Amino acid sequence: MFRAAYRSLSGALTLTNLFKQTNIKIALKSNNTISQIFRPKATNSTPIYNKSGIYKLTFKTCQHVYVGQTSRNLKQRYQEHVRYIKNNDPESAFAQHILNNQHEYGTIEEIMKLHKPTNHTSMLIPYELFFIQSHHQHGQLISERNPGELNPLIQLGLDAIDTRDYLINNNRHDT
Ligand SMILES: [Zn+2]
Repeated sequence: MFRAAYRSLSGALTLTNLFKQTNIKIALKSNNTISQIFRPKATNSTPIYNKSGIYKLTFKTCQHVYVGQTSRNLKQRYQEHVRYIKNNDPESAFAQHILNNQHEYGTIEEIMKLHKPTNHTSMLIPYELFFIQSHHQHGQLISERNPGELNPLIQLGLDAIDTRDYLINNNRHDT
């Protein structure tokens, strides 16, 4: 069997035609498969605000943040927060902070960021705790969202990020 690698699809097709008249069987191995060529460039096609997961809302006025999680999509959750503001509903700490400080809240594109997309509902709370504790330690979290007692397991995760750099640097042997 004859094996060849071709970068160009048209080149590969021409060569297949050439070998059609012969008894040589040709197996084409191309770096660009037909599906790859015709697939749109963006592989992650779901728009951010249609995803579920852990999100961050940044207050335009004071630059502090609110962290939340949702198993529905971000857009729905944003609209819900806005409804809480309009109805003067203390249900959401985000709405509370806006109302207490007479902040303006901003559009979804201005203030909402996806921290961690996930469809695994069991991971929503752990990741939310992780980002709340992280922002709290950097003094960015609003007081309405006080995490209370810090979770030692979450702390382990946060510290591991620094520890990993330490391990990588100390395992490097220069010979
Ligand atoms: Zn504020």
